[in-house]
Amino acid sequence: MDTAVLDLIRRSRRVLAICHVSPDGDAIGSLLGLGWALKAMDKEVTLACADPVPVFYRYLPGQGEIVRRPEGMFDLVISLDCSDKERLGDAYREEYHALPLLNIDHHVTNQYFGTANLVDPEAASTAEIVFLLLDELGLPIDPPMAQCLLTGIVTDTRGFRTVSSTPRVLAIANRLMAAGASLPEIVGRTLDRRPLAMIRLWGQALPGAQLRGKILWAEITEAMRAEAGLTTVDDGGLVNFLLTAEEAEVAVVFSEKNGGQEVEVSFRARPGWDVAQVALSLGGGGHMLASGATVRGKLAEVREGVLALLEESLAAQERARRER
Ligand code: AMP
Ligand code: MN
Ligand code: MN
Repeated sequence: MDTAVLDLIRRSRRVLAICHVSPDGDAIGSLLGLGWALKAMDKEVTLACADPVPVFYRYLPGQGEIVRRPEGMFDLVISLDCSDKERLGDAYREEYHALPLLNIDHHVTNQYFGTANLVDPEAASTAEIVFLLLDELGLPIDPPMAQCLLTGIVTDTRGFRTVSSTPRVLAIANRLMAAGASLPEIVGRTLDRRPLAMIRLWGQALPGAQLRGKILWAEITEAMRAEAGLTTVDDGGLVNFLLTAEEAEVAVVFSEKNGGQEVEVSFRARPGWDVAQVALSLGGGGHMLASGATVRGKLAEVREGVLALLEESLAAQERARRER
């Protein structure tokens, strides 16, 4: 592992760690796992996320300490699970620009924006990279760290179902369970749990799902969300569910937000395709098989524009495959 990374951590006293806006299980899990570890190293630690911790991650030890807007002085900022600096949102303030920034991430679209970058696109989750970092620092893993880090791994692999679920991932999960993490608790709290309102929202969105070639897409309007009684923009895993359709190679969910001025776009693909590049070209990012972007514009306009881009990209990928 890069000694510059280890030195940055060893030399720091007051650390600010930040995960991405609209946090998922890997964002919160890697943030808290690292937070517990830094405390065990006797550092002063502030943990931040620009958006609130979703209710279903509130079982994680230490989550109550995560702040929206950090205050105070720091000598190191650590970014977790962010492919670019904008993903830190306004938890990353103007005055931090002079501070060293350690970028820990696993997105293939990572922009290497840190002073030091611990980026591994082969890793299934940022939590896994944090685990390897703690191993390298020789820090023993205690039960709170283990529970947080395993949450990041389990949520980003959807319970070890993704192609990123390598033997290394399972070996790390094994060590985290041996250190005190509970796999059934994590699965029960995250993957196997959603509000009834979310199920009703799916009920509204699913009849409108349409197949366009190999792309199955659906949309969630603000009116649907209001009707279901939901306030958060996430789709509760609808895009993953759509990709279980036999006819689909790619699934997309368009979620209207910000009073109809913006659309959150979520892409999923079966192995063999790449949806990271389309997301990147829209100003977002992600992985080959799971990516996303926030696009300005009205729902119908954005949908038609994005579907056209996506069709073009898939056709180009197919041509490239034939020529190989
Ligand atoms: P989601 O569809 O929200 O579960 O996101 C799938 C993947 O795409 C995750 O790895 C996210 O980090 C990434 N992603 C989603 N939305 C964005 C965005 N607006 N900008 C950059 N990356 C994103
Ligand atoms: Mn994430
Ligand atoms: Mn992640």
